[in-house]
Amino acid sequence: MILCNFADMKRRKFILDSALLTAGAAVSAHLPVMGAVRHVSSPGIRLEWENFTARMKYTFTISGSSRTSTPIVLTRITWNGETGYGEASMPPYLGESHESVDLFLKKVREDVLPRFDDPFRLDAILRETDDIAEGNNAAKASVDIALHDLVGKLLGQPWWRIWGYSPENTPCTCYTIGYDESDDIVRQKTAEASGSRFLKVKLGQGDARDRRMIRLIREVCPRTPLFIDANQGWKDRVYASEMAGWLAEQGAVLIEQPMARDDIEGNGYVTSRSPIPVVADESCRRLKDIRNIYGAFDAINIKLMKCTGLREGHEMVTLAHSLGMDTMIGCMTETSVAISAAAQLSPKMRWADLDGNILISNDPFSGMKLVDGRITLGMLPGIGVSDRLYGSVQDNCAQ
Ligand code: MG
Repeated sequence: MILCNFADMKRRKFILDSALLTAGAAVSAHLPVMGAVRHVSSPGIRLEWENFTARMKYTFTISGSSRTSTPIVLTRITWNGETGYGEASMPPYLGESHESVDLFLKKVREDVLPRFDDPFRLDAILRETDDIAEGNNAAKASVDIALHDLVGKLLGQPWWRIWGYSPENTPCTCYTIGYDESDDIVRQKTAEASGSRFLKVKLGQGDARDRRMIRLIREVCPRTPLFIDANQGWKDRVYASEMAGWLAEQGAVLIEQPMARDDIEGNGYVTSRSPIPVVADESCRRLKDIRNIYGAFDAINIKLMKCTGLREGHEMVTLAHSLGMDTMIGCMTETSVAISAAAQLSPKMRWADLDGNILISNDPFSGMKLVDGRITLGMLPGIGVSDRLYGSVQDNCAQ
């Protein structure tokens, strides 16, 4: 009898493990996967959200804008007693706001979710969410991330395992040094980041200012490899090409978005002459953009807030690699919810820029950890985030 029970337990474990290994291909509607789910009957999928303001440790200046806080919406999707967390981060230049996300999520709650009683139907739920309206990519990501967190928790596994990724393949993240007029502040920021394996420098402020930033950073960190982000700030393709050469001599290892997002030809001109890889950021938001920029960039920077979340981000990695393009995982100013979600994709990335949660002073969650600059993936299920701190800060979430 004992042997029989043991064999039965092993068989059930096999079904569970098999389900988990195959779930990455399609987690919806497969009975073995459903067998791994706690509480199969469904009371419906509930979506809730609240506004939050992420406070930046430093004034954050990039080419064209400057800010000290970022509006965020934190989402929760609950089903059968389990809750998944999500997040929309809305840097102002992308056009979303607390108000626009609120309006969009009301449509998801009223028009999409009532048609589903199974959160494993990610493909259909997220397609219908996407079809509500153009844009609203951060709002869409907040639904996608919460659903992935929920489904991963129901499976009892983190997404890097569901996708079958190797955790030892995670890249080291860079740490961003934003532009500042004060030499002392640039030196101070650089000193604070001196343990990082890569430094990311925001340029595109004009030739003298850009070269000054590099000189100040090199005074403090003479050898740390640099990621350069011009944020579309260079207007002349010949100048941008010359800067690419000069920056490579200063120890830069890549350049993001040298020229305007719609100037595909200009960016391609720079890429063809650059001694280091050129990465599309603003020029490549979603999966469909890859075909437009193919050939004009060496790589793409995937951000969940641009691409509507983990589902499309996963598809973008696959397509980019099939075309021979490199990939980078990036972020906005985000809490550990969106950063930890993005980290689930990181084993497939050559480069990572996942420092958004480090750059804020009031992160309500804990999640992805860096060890000696390298992203580490734990066994927390879903997107790998703990809500241990969340309850204590909910009172601080502005409604
Ligand atoms: Mg960028």
